[in-house]
Amino acid sequence: MRVAVTGGGGFLGSHLCEALLRRGDAVVCLDNLSTGRPENIAHLRKYPAFEFIHTDVSLSAEIPGSVDAVAHLASPASPPDYLRLPLETLAVGSRGTENALELARRHSARFLLASTSEVYGDPLVHPQVEDYWGNVNPVGPRSVYDEAKRYAEAVSLAYRRTYGVDVGIVRIFNTYGPRMRPQDGRVVSSFIAQALAGEPLTIYGDGKQTRSFCYVSDLIRGLVGMLDSSETGPFNLGNPEEWLVCDLAELVLDLTGSGSRIQYHPLPTDDPVRRRPDITRIREHLGWHPEVPVADGVRRTVEWFADRAYDTAGAW
Ligand code: NAD
Ligand code: UDP
Repeated sequence: MRVAVTGGGGFLGSHLCEALLRRGDAVVCLDNLSTGRPENIAHLRKYPAFEFIHTDVSLSAEIPGSVDAVAHLASPASPPDYLRLPLETLAVGSRGTENALELARRHSARFLLASTSEVYGDPLVHPQVEDYWGNVNPVGPRSVYDEAKRYAEAVSLAYRRTYGVDVGIVRIFNTYGPRMRPQDGRVVSSFIAQALAGEPLTIYGDGKQTRSFCYVSDLIRGLVGMLDSSETGPFNLGNPEEWLVCDLAELVLDLTGSGSRIQYHPLPTDDPVRRRPDITRIREHLGWHPEVPVADGVRRTVEWFADRAYDTAGAW
């Protein structure tokens, strides 16, 4: 297969490119590196079947040659990133998704949309099932991400109904692992970077909100499974192991042996109170389930961060 991966220079995209190259696919990575990093894909240059195109997919997602599948991952994903890039986030969720869909339509290619648990907003149904329509504030600061992804799902299914594009949608829940940026503001990367630097761990609110954390290798196995299937979904893709944020902070302190203290900060606007995927559907349709417990995955991530010299400004 020749697969176009938008956002392939980012955290998840670079792991997906690597997994596809390793099994023998050709990969064209389209990325504007707004939140991705050249270091994420530097090691992929050794594959003759790897191409990188520096482009903004909100403007164009044209590529020369054949395409068998399009995996659309381009979008800022961390709250500080999408709050810093609100219009770009809306653009890539809307025009970027349309351009990626057009690419798939022209080539009769499989199209995989990386949607998000954020389509459920601050969910009133727990755990979240795919039939739940969500509780999103359409005018709050997070709406630039949530509504862009909801539109991306809508336009993807409209392309399926109108043009017969072979669309598959996964709703990804909080994922962590190597290649997260230490300063991306997400909770796992932030806590690990802070603990290793001996800085206070920043808990927002009282830390009693929950998230369910999936290790990146499990997530990528699910993305590849969905890409290879002809399922439409949407399927939740995540690890149902649910953690209080304050317990995650304790885990990171234990694993790093850090003497960092905890510092409490205000909870961001519309921060969801709890989140856990019901993964019955993807388990039944694709046989997918996560294998890496959070304690193991966080330990592996701590080791990866500790192996790298980074400064607190975020440069490795
Ligand atoms: P990331 O920020 O590391 O990667 C996103 C990539 O998209 C970056 O390389 C960035 O430069 C690129 N990009 C952004 N706008 C672009 C544009 N207009 N044109 C070309 N490239 C562009 O984030 P990630 O965690 O790897 O997330 C990847 C995808 O998965 C996103 O679509 C995100 O919404 C989705 N997702 C991720 C998570 C998670 O926990 N990591 C959870 C839910 C959904
Ligand atoms: N969070 C925190 N401290 C941080 C970063 C995040 O307490 O330094 C909290 C955040 O308020 C949220 C949870 O951790 O309740 C997960 O945040 P993240 O940004 O990783 O993901 P998302 O909010 O998109 O699920």
